[in-house]
Amino acid sequence: MNAPTNAPSNVPSNVPLSTEDLIRLGESRSAHNYHPLPVVIRSAEGAWVTDVDGKRYLDCLAGYSSLNFGHGNPAIIAAAREQLDRLTLTSRAFLHDQFATFVSGLADLCGKDMVLPMNTGAEAVETAIKVARKWGYEVKGVPADQANIIVMEDNFHGRTTTIVGFSTDPDARGGFGPFTPGFRIVKYGSAEAIREAVDENTVAVLIEPIQGEAGVLVPPDGYLTAVREICSENDVLFIADEIQSGLGRTGDTFACDHEGVVPDMYVLGKALGGGVVPVSAVAANADILGVLKPGQHGSTFGGNPLACAVGNAVITLLNTGVYQTRARDLGAFLHTRLRELIAPDADGRTPVLAVRGRGLWAGVDIDPSLATGREVSEALMRRGVLAKDTHGSTIRLAPPIVVTEEDLGWAVDQLAAVLSEFASR
Ligand SMILES: *Cc1c(COP(=O)(O)O)cnc(C)c1O
Repeated sequence: MNAPTNAPSNVPSNVPLSTEDLIRLGESRSAHNYHPLPVVIRSAEGAWVTDVDGKRYLDCLAGYSSLNFGHGNPAIIAAAREQLDRLTLTSRAFLHDQFATFVSGLADLCGKDMVLPMNTGAEAVETAIKVARKWGYEVKGVPADQANIIVMEDNFHGRTTTIVGFSTDPDARGGFGPFTPGFRIVKYGSAEAIREAVDENTVAVLIEPIQGEAGVLVPPDGYLTAVREICSENDVLFIADEIQSGLGRTGDTFACDHEGVVPDMYVLGKALGGGVVPVSAVAANADILGVLKPGQHGSTFGGNPLACAVGNAVITLLNTGVYQTRARDLGAFLHTRLRELIAPDADGRTPVLAVRGRGLWAGVDIDPSLATGREVSEALMRRGVLAKDTHGSTIRLAPPIVVTEEDLGWAVDQLAAVLSEFASR
């Protein structure tokens, strides 16, 4: 087969590639659906990563919270390694020895009867949508094909065609229609907007308890409680997408715990795979998940032995409560330090307009006249801090929960230094 005529030739495999070669080759031979920072990581431990030239960086993104327990967490890696040597895949056509422990352990962690394991977050969201619709027809009695699900403005639930169809981000949805009908989009943070949108055919409200991709937006106090009440009053399922907010990040096992709210369905992913393999799941009671019968939903890799072994290690870590407490304590420190940046500098300028978040999760709004989020991320990278911008001039910080207070303080110092550099331009 001939190489495409306009493609650069691959560098011979016996010559070690320079950082520039690795960046150029990777960029030219992959679709440009991402715009990575120009750093090429080779190894990592805890909260720190090392690039191909041996330079170290503090990881303040943590794989969008997939690495809550740190890079190379010894308990997770040991479980994965032991499982790799023994059994990696059976398909769900057969049972394996890690499955029962995983589904029962995760169901217990969620306080639910049962779990349906999948792989990626988007697959778990799709699962929740399918289950809610089927529950609506079979249990609630909604007429065939009339079910609607209420979703939020600025949501992020993944990249499938159904999910991007109810996104309000033009980049996420543009050019991908026609879309799946049956979704109503309302303003995030307004219980009244949900109340107005609910009708007799509403089967679910799908919410991120904190909107991550939108810029770490925390809803007003009492919002989740009000959503719970509206759902209960109207026989509607409350689906909490805790894929990014859950499993320790906010200082609780789930972000919903902050208000003591229990949704009908948890949607989990990211950190459930321990930063090793994609593991996602939906957790709910039997009157909801019980609507699925053999052949009605599935996944070749969902609930595979390696995924379950890693998931079991993650559940064991979460059951200690250590990570939740650590995220709460370190989060308090991080938010205190970040809020200090809101104070005007010597020239009376405020480079940081707002700081939001909960636990070890922060969105920092930079004055857009000072620099773009991308420029700040690049400057932070040069100083050894890896962070990601979102929506213009917001920087989000979500380091692995194993990060130390000293590391965090240093990272905030680097952000302060970067901002004062931009301010003096
Ligand atoms: C990342 C994310 C998803 C999608 O997960 P993938 O594994 O990328 O499919 C869905 N919902 C939320 C809130 C997320 O943060």
